[in-house]
Amino acid sequence: MGIDAVLAAAQAIDWSLLGERTLCDACLGRLVGKAGHGFANAERGRAIRNAYGLPDGPCWVCGGLLKEIPKFADLVVAKLETWDYRTFLIGSKVDPEITNREEGLWAELRAAHAEPIKAEINREVGKLVAARTGKEVDFLRPDIAGLVDTQYDVVELEVAPLFLYGRYRKLSRDIPQTRWPCRRCRGKGCDHCGGRGKMYETSVEEIVAAEVMKQTGGSGHALHGMGREDVDALMLGNGRPFVLEISRPKQRTVDLAPVTEAVNHSGLAEVEGLRHSSREEVVAIKEDRADKTYRARIRFATPVDVAKLKGAIAALAGARIAQRTPVRVSHRRADLVRERVLRDVSLVEAEGREAILLVTAEAGTYVKEALHGDAGRTEPSLAGLYGTPCEVLALDVVRIHDEG
Ligand SMILES: [Zn+2]
Ligand SMILES: [Zn+2]
Repeated sequence: MGIDAVLAAAQAIDWSLLGERTLCDACLGRLVGKAGHGFANAERGRAIRNAYGLPDGPCWVCGGLLKEIPKFADLVVAKLETWDYRTFLIGSKVDPEITNREEGLWAELRAAHAEPIKAEINREVGKLVAARTGKEVDFLRPDIAGLVDTQYDVVELEVAPLFLYGRYRKLSRDIPQTRWPCRRCRGKGCDHCGGRGKMYETSVEEIVAAEVMKQTGGSGHALHGMGREDVDALMLGNGRPFVLEISRPKQRTVDLAPVTEAVNHSGLAEVEGLRHSSREEVVAIKEDRADKTYRARIRFATPVDVAKLKGAIAALAGARIAQRTPVRVSHRRADLVRERVLRDVSLVEAEGREAILLVTAEAGTYVKEALHGDAGRTEPSLAGLYGTPCEVLALDVVRIHDEG
């Protein structure tokens, strides 16, 4: 084994085909780079050079590029200096003329165990960077990837976003879940949005992100919620799960207590259970189809007949309802009929023309429409079963049933 495997692989190649062309040790060794473990390609190359008496000289493949590896490592280390990361990965761009020469040579020599030059550059630069920074290489999920452009000596950094999981409560009927850019000016600021570039002064997203952005120095944020409530609805009870995504964070460790404190002092929203998270959790949250319980305050056209209302509620509880896309969202959703189950409906109190109900519904139910009937577009509905029109004065989410 060992160097014998390298020499056995070298034996399958007719080295006289190189003709006048000379190669550096590393480019020579890389032609059998996948044979024999634990050697640098330069070591493989020296063994082959000795065994076949191949001459030294300027390298026909890389033109000396591989001698620049320490310089590339310097560039990466300098670029990484101001960033907080635990793991990294190196990628590289190589002049296509070099890779073309290399691949042509593989074909000519029928080199079956060759390794591409990029793989060597990435690995060797990675080793030097790891040694100098004390950080680890992570092939699957690095905090930062450094892309070395070997032609122009430029390093670009790809910084993995930072994810924080939590649950929020929204205590205001005047703020949306996420930042709502102005459609007319697309964020630049215009008369329509009062120069703010957005339709609401703030949002749960902005309130939660403010302190995180301060700590991380990120370049942007997004809030991924497990569904969303209407702007004028409160989100109470056990709160709604979300993942906050921070782009290009300079710092990756967030002190969570001050974040919770800042949000909870806003008076507009609260958070709990903040912890670090991942992109997988964003996907899981987006796919979740949890039931939700709502507290609805409704007003009928005439004073409530409690016995009759209880009868209508009993008929609606557990019912499968058919909902044609509501008028209020028809400008952005296709017009079709969806079926949803109202798991439970119960009366909390009734007084005069008003009543308060608890409604537990499947994800994706248009709850307001299930109550007022949307002019017959939702069937059955509370108003239909009760036989009197009603309007929904307030609809708040009081529980999200995602926790089993
Ligand atoms: Zn070379
Ligand atoms: Zn605007």
